[in-house]
Amino acid sequence: MNEAVAAPSWRLAPMSTCAAILIAALTACGGGSGGGGIAFPPAAPAPAPNPPAPAPAPVAAGTRATVALLETTDLHFNVRSYDYFKLAEDKSYGYERTATLINAARKEFANTMLFDNGDTIQGTALADYEALVSRIPCTQPLSIYKVMNATGYDVGTLGNHEFNYGLDFLNQVLGGGLDVEGVDGTKKCAGPAFPMVLANVQSVKSGKPLIAPYTIVTRQFTATGPDGKTVTVPLKVGVIGFTTPGILNWDKRFLEGKVRTEGAVESAAKYVPELRAKGADIVVALQHGGLDASPYSPTMESPGLYLSKVPGIDALMMGHQHGTFPDRGAKPGYTQAGVDNTAGTVNGVPAVMASSWGKALGLIKLELVHDGKAWSVDKSKTFVEARSTQTGKDGAGKAIYVDADPSVAPLIETQHQAAITYVKTPIGSTDFRMNTYFADVGDPGAIQIVNQAQADYVKAYIQGNLPQYASLPVLSVSAPFKSGYEGGRDYTDVAVGNLAIFNAADLYLYPNTVYAVKVTGAEIKSWLEAAAKRFRRIDPAATADQQLISTFPGYNFDMFTTPDVQYEIDVTQAEGSRIKNLTYLGAAIDAAKEFVIATNNYRATSGASFIPALDGRATIYASPDANRDVLIEYIKARKTITRTANGAARSWRFTRVTTAGNVVFTSGQGQLSAATDAGLTNISLLSADDGSGKGRSVYKVDLSQ
Ligand code: MN
Ligand code: MG
Repeated sequence: MNEAVAAPSWRLAPMSTCAAILIAALTACGGGSGGGGIAFPPAAPAPAPNPPAPAPAPVAAGTRATVALLETTDLHFNVRSYDYFKLAEDKSYGYERTATLINAARKEFANTMLFDNGDTIQGTALADYEALVSRIPCTQPLSIYKVMNATGYDVGTLGNHEFNYGLDFLNQVLGGGLDVEGVDGTKKCAGPAFPMVLANVQSVKSGKPLIAPYTIVTRQFTATGPDGKTVTVPLKVGVIGFTTPGILNWDKRFLEGKVRTEGAVESAAKYVPELRAKGADIVVALQHGGLDASPYSPTMESPGLYLSKVPGIDALMMGHQHGTFPDRGAKPGYTQAGVDNTAGTVNGVPAVMASSWGKALGLIKLELVHDGKAWSVDKSKTFVEARSTQTGKDGAGKAIYVDADPSVAPLIETQHQAAITYVKTPIGSTDFRMNTYFADVGDPGAIQIVNQAQADYVKAYIQGNLPQYASLPVLSVSAPFKSGYEGGRDYTDVAVGNLAIFNAADLYLYPNTVYAVKVTGAEIKSWLEAAAKRFRRIDPAATADQQLISTFPGYNFDMFTTPDVQYEIDVTQAEGSRIKNLTYLGAAIDAAKEFVIATNNYRATSGASFIPALDGRATIYASPDANRDVLIEYIKARKTITRTANGAARSWRFTRVTTAGNVVFTSGQGQLSAATDAGLTNISLLSADDGSGKGRSVYKVDLSQ
């Protein structure tokens, strides 16, 4: 707190009083530093500035109202069902389809409210375009807010990704009003036409919440009186927001010394009673976080199990984990104690998590009953659902989705086209064709650059933020994500010449994020043994053709691509005994020595079949940055990508063995030159067409070379 310095007298008010003023009289609390430092965007509806509120209209005892609380979360700027990396439609996500579900819910229920749970302004090329490339002018709302404004939202909160472009940008796109160091909060801009709330992030400068911690929205709802007649009743809905304290790590460069965070439970314990005291009939918590059974800590990312136990919360909107809750399928994702996947409750509190990217709409239906004095929730009538935009599958097993709301796309068409132009712009160039046609047999040409980018990123983060690991070597693994599973064209293949942003999606297919794990030399060997399951066991004495590649997925064939690490894979040996002569800096790897390995969230948290510690325990840094974005930044920084520097470092080769028969594998038709270009002299074409009808040739690898 900064009360030690000379401050306007209102700053000396206890936080709770100040927060109360924030709600009742926005400018009184946030505006002291110069003109209009309010926490709400200008368009936000604000209650009357003076306390004497009108007496509530009398509601007859026995009156009932059904309210559907709708949630979007983790939209990540996916307005369109469009993949800017593939330059193609993808109907499996996109707000234009969520909007169809919203329209349907509004027809279905007389009383609805719509909330957004954050991670809204970042995640697509369009987001980057409006933030970093051609910054959206102050006079225009961000495209995602523009379409949300058109739909009409009641309240939103901020996710961790709202901080990704810094506080100045956040201030602008929220409409202005942030009273925080380095930001001109007096500047008014176009923003969301609905209030934003966030209770657990404070401005260091003001000592107050960065934006309003909560709001009370008064809505007129249709209800049924005790006589069965339809009546209109006012309902005061308190809405409070929480985000992940991890923002201070993930966006340290923007936030350090400027904001501080508080645990969601601590914030809720402080503000929920205030909301109640101010007459909120029900309280909705927007938690940009999910469920995690770890013991509570004020910095945990997903404190939903604990937040749900704070008295006075009637509905919990969740997100951040990109999960679906409730999930009434055979294998629900959330099974912690206190979680009821059938009822859709967390410790008895109705709770929903609506996936991500607009793939689902969260819905909590509450039935409220009035006893003549106050509303209460009739818990026996609560219903919770995460409604998917996928409605089923067609006869061929292909997913079917709801149609897009045709009113959404035209609102942002100009910006959408500009983003497409942007992803086509070069970020650098390559002097070699980067492909995975022969990655299984030793070409590192499309993998090394991913490893280089990951290792660089993790090294820099450790140097700046994790000094306790600064003495450990940082290595990286990646895999050929596209290696022929779908056919002879299912390979990464980036041509010589300009590299555009969308090419990065070919080099890194999945929307993973970079994770760093700490493992020993012995664990590295085990990891590589697991990856070597990519190969069948070869019998050197067999005279018939032997297939080299197993059904173990190519995207799990993790490999190093650095001169520092060298090893052999002996495919004549059984699984688990194939890694030989594993060296680090030319000497046998020390089984006890610790290393940091850059990888992805998927491997770090669900890689226990590689080594047990890849169940999350080995993670030392769970970054919020996508591997693909890290790759893009790496290419941008270097401009010219060369085979010599970025595509020729082989860490592994097959242990030499003479086989009586052919060792064969399939790859794209007519691609032998890719092997030759990579310097793989032991590959030859055996058959131009493997007969599968999928564009594959059969190649032979001479293991004796
Ligand atoms: Mn998210
Ligand atoms: Mg998040």
